[in-house]
Amino acid sequence: MALDPITQAIRIQTERTSQMEHSTPLFLTSSFTFEDAENMRAAFADETDDNIYSRFSNPNVQEFVDKMCALEGAEAGFATASGMSAVFASFMALLKSGDHLLVCNSIFGSTHTVITKYLPRYGITYTYVSVDKPEEWEAAIQPNTKMIYLETPTNPGLDIIDLAFVGELAQKHNLILNVDNCFATPVNQKPLEFGAHLSVHSATKWIDGQGRVMGGVVVGKKELIKEIYLFCRSTGPAMSPFNAWVLSKSLETLDVRMERHASNALAVAKALENYPAISWLKYPYLPSHPQYDIARKQMKNGGGIVCFELKGGLESGRAFLDNLQMLSLTANLGDTRSIASHPASTTHAKLTEEERLAVNITPGLIRISVGLEKAEDILGDITQALGKL
Ligand SMILES: *Cc1c(COP(=O)(O)O)cnc(C)c1O
Repeated sequence: MALDPITQAIRIQTERTSQMEHSTPLFLTSSFTFEDAENMRAAFADETDDNIYSRFSNPNVQEFVDKMCALEGAEAGFATASGMSAVFASFMALLKSGDHLLVCNSIFGSTHTVITKYLPRYGITYTYVSVDKPEEWEAAIQPNTKMIYLETPTNPGLDIIDLAFVGELAQKHNLILNVDNCFATPVNQKPLEFGAHLSVHSATKWIDGQGRVMGGVVVGKKELIKEIYLFCRSTGPAMSPFNAWVLSKSLETLDVRMERHASNALAVAKALENYPAISWLKYPYLPSHPQYDIARKQMKNGGGIVCFELKGGLESGRAFLDNLQMLSLTANLGDTRSIASHPASTTHAKLTEEERLAVNITPGLIRISVGLEKAEDILGDITQALGKL
């Protein structure tokens, strides 16, 4: 019986033990035992799939990976301790000295640091290309370009990149297309269907969805995942079995949660769009979004993030955060609880104003990670905070 991926994310399960448990137990063990010398030899020779050591194989981690592969339509995957270790492994396992990376200019801060500060030490060069103009990316491809790396929707600006367009570009030039799919989640957007070879995630965000554990995962083409597996097997950024157990359970509710996050976000976005204290607002599923048509084409819903620009810039941004009564001020996103952030005074404060503007981070930009509280309560807190500006 062919099951829908959403059903598979609920039903895929580690083989039952003799206890006949219904819920998967936690395999909190560093290593696994063998019946005899021959079984042990065969496992080490990769002739069997038997678990050896939890740095590179564990039933809880494998269950989480199998569910992720089902959701994204991927051949294989590997889970890591955090989103950043997944991103880093996807670079280090597949790029070598002399290779060039084409990167969309609006990416997660730590990914930017890895690309600009660490990769050049290993002889890997990069070119940043504009998120607004994918049609200009082809001109930046060099003979030694090996990979295109992008995020869509972008953080925090919610720009949308046409995955089918970039997928064709990657195929034409025989490049690996590596997409950070964290913001959309695997139930909302499946980059591999548009020609991506890898989809990477911070599982810390929507996948956990409750702000509890760190995790990361890469899914995609078998031969690429094999390289990532071998890199991680030796270098050790392993996902803990406990975190995998939590995250596997989280995947069972991801689709339901994301539908509510998105409907709450759409309600908040619609209500605030023409609010007097706001100069503009962006949400992928609002017709006013510059890439609305692309969002409709590649995303099942608009996701859980809304961003807007306050009239009054930096000072208004800080005052808005202080005026909030319910929304949390915290660095995370993708939680049941709504979160507000002001990138210009926090995550992106170290950049110059010019550098911030180059990646569409304006002084009064507010990012809301819309939670699962009642939409009226989320909106109520935001509008009372805006009213006091
Ligand atoms: C948080 C985040 C990461 C990094 O993930 P961690 O789990 O914090 O290491 C990477 N990409 C995006 C888009 C993120 O939001």
